[in-house]
Amino acid sequence: MNLAHLLEQRARAAPESPAIFRGGRLHSTHAQWAHSAAHLAGHFTAAGLKPGDRIALFMRNHVRYLEVMLGAWWAGLAVVPINAKLHPHEAQWIIDHAQARWAFVSADVMGQGDDNTGPARFSGVDQQIDIDAHEAWFLRAPPPAVLGAAPSPPVERQADDLAWLFYTSGTTGRPKGVMITHRNLRTMGMGYFVDVDPIGSTDHIAYAAPMSHGAGIYAVPHLMAGARHVVPDSGGFDAAELFDLGHRLGPLSLFAAPTIVNRIVAEATARGATHEECARTFKTIVYGGAPMYAADIQRAMAVMGPRFVQIYGQGETPMTGTVLGRHHLADATHPRHAQRIASIGVAQTPVRVRVANEQGHDLPTGEIGEVLVQGDSVMAGYWRNPEATAAAVRDGWLWTGDMGSLDDDGFITLKDRSKDLIISGGSNIYPREVEEVLLQAPGVAEVAVVGEPHPEWGEAVVAFVVLQTAHPPDPPALDAWCLSRIARFKRPKRYEFVLELPKNGYGKVLKRELRERLRSAADSS
Ligand code: AMP
Repeated sequence: MNLAHLLEQRARAAPESPAIFRGGRLHSTHAQWAHSAAHLAGHFTAAGLKPGDRIALFMRNHVRYLEVMLGAWWAGLAVVPINAKLHPHEAQWIIDHAQARWAFVSADVMGQGDDNTGPARFSGVDQQIDIDAHEAWFLRAPPPAVLGAAPSPPVERQADDLAWLFYTSGTTGRPKGVMITHRNLRTMGMGYFVDVDPIGSTDHIAYAAPMSHGAGIYAVPHLMAGARHVVPDSGGFDAAELFDLGHRLGPLSLFAAPTIVNRIVAEATARGATHEECARTFKTIVYGGAPMYAADIQRAMAVMGPRFVQIYGQGETPMTGTVLGRHHLADATHPRHAQRIASIGVAQTPVRVRVANEQGHDLPTGEIGEVLVQGDSVMAGYWRNPEATAAAVRDGWLWTGDMGSLDDDGFITLKDRSKDLIISGGSNIYPREVEEVLLQAPGVAEVAVVGEPHPEWGEAVVAFVVLQTAHPPDPPALDAWCLSRIARFKRPKRYEFVLELPKNGYGKVLKRELRERLRSAADSS
């Protein structure tokens, strides 16, 4: 069960069907993609790489991402996609930890070496390939006439063999290597059709978010559908470019973190796009990876229509945890619509999801506990870290570290990650609740709530607030706003007005950094 068989089969059944687009231009058909993957697999094997070996990808979004990934799988290798926003030193740490044998890089991400004659070099790898400099090398695939004779088939793999080594985004400490198998990705891929969106061969997936993360993982269901993969020329996210691509190619689907969704919505607003225009440009926008506030998703639907689906998952159960489907999001007449759109939805089909106390016992509806997931999408464990694996997966259940509660209809609402919980005067405060309220206050653009050590209360609530342009800071007004909406003990004791919030490469707010800021300010006072 090798994921590369999916490409082989599509190439056989519909060889001429468009597969990869570079911007608005067709880059390869399914047959060409399969040939390039088989050809690349031949190179890997000839160079002595063995099934199970790892190759790293440290590059911006690029059509080569898809080619290298499938070429690696074809040869039975596993990929280690690295967040392109990491510092090369951080990437080096991952390469060492994963013992990657080859690294594919793009010069813009890698930076210049000390001698300025080319990109900096990773140590410890047999080969480092600059995808731009070696372009011709990649394209030296045999011509289609030769390839008419079927390329050598993908190497056989077991369902539980490693396909993707995903280093968690590093919001806490050193990243851990999540072992994602062919089974995990196949399960995730099939679940997409049931829970997220049915896909056909004329659908387009656009890679606007980093391919080293969820967006890249969604290549799998689109491969299953024989659909079209669109890699924007910018190699990343540019709202105007996406609209133009959507106009040119037909409606696009994409995965995006909430920050990106908000920017797409802002672009739609600036263009004065109607729902019909948005429908011609975007089929489905899947969001997740971080909290999307109720006010934001409501605005998104008001501006762009019912084209949103929320997923909740984590690297350890990639893209597969819960789903808040299009119909649930759009059903404004439902008596619990307001709660539902602030939730992460219901368990996805391939998994069971429950909310448990520290002993692993199910909690009654309404009570807050840890979210646990079980199913074929759950990782095989952490790479060479049995202690961390044993702590995260117990009796087959993945302990996500996310705190939430179930309602009677099976919808889960996240309160926070367990480690973000603030305990003040013995009361638990879930920052998310306070953030939801503050985000609706006049003039507030972004907010992150954290706990600050406090001699009397243990911790005190502090809100870091980014204001909309030209809006003056007004702590008493914010205080009054909170007091009229949430329990007194939850309201921030202090507001820090900042121009921006620190975020990691995937747009997640780095609360750890905010806490450190508070600590060092306390130390120096
Ligand atoms: P990662 O492993 O980097 O994908 O991060 C996964 C974490 O992101 C989860 O454990 C959650 O804390 C958060 N997350 C993922 N999806 C959602 C969502 N839909 N809403 C809120 N938080 C989310």
